[in-house]
Amino acid sequence: MRNLIVTIAALLLSGLLVFPLTRISAEGAESEERSSLVDRQIAVVIDDFGNGMTGTEEMFKLPIRFTAAVMPFMPTTKRDAALAHEKGLDVIVHMPMEPNRGKRSWLGPGAITTDLPDDEIRRRVEAAIGDVPYAIGMNNHMGSKATSDERVMRIVLTVVKEHGMFFLDSRTTGKSVIPKLAAELGVPQLSNHVFLDDVYTAQHIAKQMGVVKQHLSAHEACVTIGHVGPPGKKTAAVLRDSIPQISQRAVFVKLSEMLVPSPEKDIIPHP
Ligand SMILES: [Zn+2]
Repeated sequence: MRNLIVTIAALLLSGLLVFPLTRISAEGAESEERSSLVDRQIAVVIDDFGNGMTGTEEMFKLPIRFTAAVMPFMPTTKRDAALAHEKGLDVIVHMPMEPNRGKRSWLGPGAITTDLPDDEIRRRVEAAIGDVPYAIGMNNHMGSKATSDERVMRIVLTVVKEHGMFFLDSRTTGKSVIPKLAAELGVPQLSNHVFLDDVYTAQHIAKQMGVVKQHLSAHEACVTIGHVGPPGKKTAAVLRDSIPQISQRAVFVKLSEMLVPSPEKDIIPHP
C-alpha cells in the first residue's frame, strides 16, 4: 500500500499524470460548452399504448427519452406501462374523453363524457389512474368536447391534483379550458404544440417534424405528440431519422423533466 502511494506521489511529481488530468478537464469543458449550445427541450409523447398497437416495439426501441401515454382497461395496459417504466420513460394515463365528432366506440372503456354526473366522472378518473401502473400524469385521448367543458375538467383536474400528478393538454380543441383551470387549481400543466401524425403518411409526418424544428427555433420548449397504431411504424422511423438534427438544437426530455423549473430559463407553457 505504502509502495503504491509512493509510486503515485513520484508519478505526480514527475508530471506523468499531468497529461491525463488536463485531458479530463478539457473534456469536461467541451461537454459543458456543448450543453450550453443545446439549450432547448423537446418532449416527445407517444399516445395510444395499451392495445397492442402497431409500432409499439419500434417506439420502445427509440434511443431517446420520451413519455408513454397508456390507455386504461386495455389488453396491454399493464404490459406497456411496465415496459415503459423499465426503460426509464415517463408513463401517463391516456384518458379517453368525449370528442365533438366521432363514434363513442373509438373512446374505449371508462371514458369521460359530458353527460356523466360529477361523482361518476370522479369515479372514472380514479379508476383509470388505478389501472395504469407507474403513471405520474395524464393527457386526453380525443376530448375536444370534454376538455372545453368547465364542470367536467374541474373534476378531472381536481382528482389529478389529489394524486400529485400533472396534466398534458393534448389540445384537440382551441376551446380547451385546461390551462385556465389548471392555473386556478394549481395543477402542473403542459400543452401539446405539434401533432406529428394526424395524417398517416411518412411525408406528412416528416413535414410535421419540420414544424417541430421551427417551433424550437422560436421557443425554448416543444411538446409533440405521435401515436402507435396506424401511423406507428412510420412515426417511429421519422423520429429515429430526426434524432441527429434535433439533438443539435434540443435535448429529448420526458414531460416530468420539462416541468422541473430551471433557474436559468422559464419554460412557459404555450398558450
Ligand atoms: Zn389517443
